[in-house]
Amino acid sequence: MRRGFKTEAKKLALELREELGADAHVPFDPYEFAESYGIDVIKLSTLGTDARLEFLKADGSALSGALIPVGTGQVILENDAQPAARRRTTLCHEIAHVVLEHSFGISLANERKCGLAGDQEAEADWLSGEMLIPYDGALRLARAGAPDVRVAQAFDVSLAVARWRMNGSGARTVAARMRAKWQP
Ligand SMILES: [Zn+2]
Repeated sequence: MRRGFKTEAKKLALELREELGADAHVPFDPYEFAESYGIDVIKLSTLGTDARLEFLKADGSALSGALIPVGTGQVILENDAQPAARRRTTLCHEIAHVVLEHSFGISLANERKCGLAGDQEAEADWLSGEMLIPYDGALRLARAGAPDVRVAQAFDVSLAVARWRMNGSGARTVAARMRAKWQP
C-alpha cells in the first residue's frame, strides 16, 4: 500500500459518509451511496440463467460480486444469495475501486479478492473498512471497551469485519494506551 494511503482513506471515508449525512458512528449504507454516486447495482438473481451461470462459473468458488465497466461508467453485480452483511462488505469494496478510480477490466470478487493488482486490492479493502467502520467510530467503541459483537451490531457488519477493524485499525491499541496513561 502506498505511503500515506491509510491517512487519506480515513479522511475520504468520512467525506463519503458525509454525502449521505452519516457521521462516523452509524452504519454505512452502500446501496444508498451507489445510487447517489450513479452506480447501478444489479442483483445476480435478476439475470437470466445463462448469464448467471456464466458469472458463477467464471469465478469457480462463491462469487460475491463483480465490477463491470459499461461505457464510461461501471455497474456492480452482486450475489444476492449471500448474507446481507457480506453483501454490504462486497459492495463497499467495489465502490472503493470506483471512488479510487482504479483501472480494471471486469473485476470478479470472491471471498477475499477480485483479481486486481495487489496495491489496488489492498487499497480497496482498506477504504471499504473505513467506510464500514471509520477509525473514529472504532476508537470510541474501543474506549468504551465494546466487544466485537457489539461493534458488529452498531455498524451492521459481520463479526469478522468488526474484529478486523477494531484490531487492524489500531483503535484498541490506542484506547489501551489512553487508559494506561490515566491510571495512577
Ligand atoms: Zn477488488
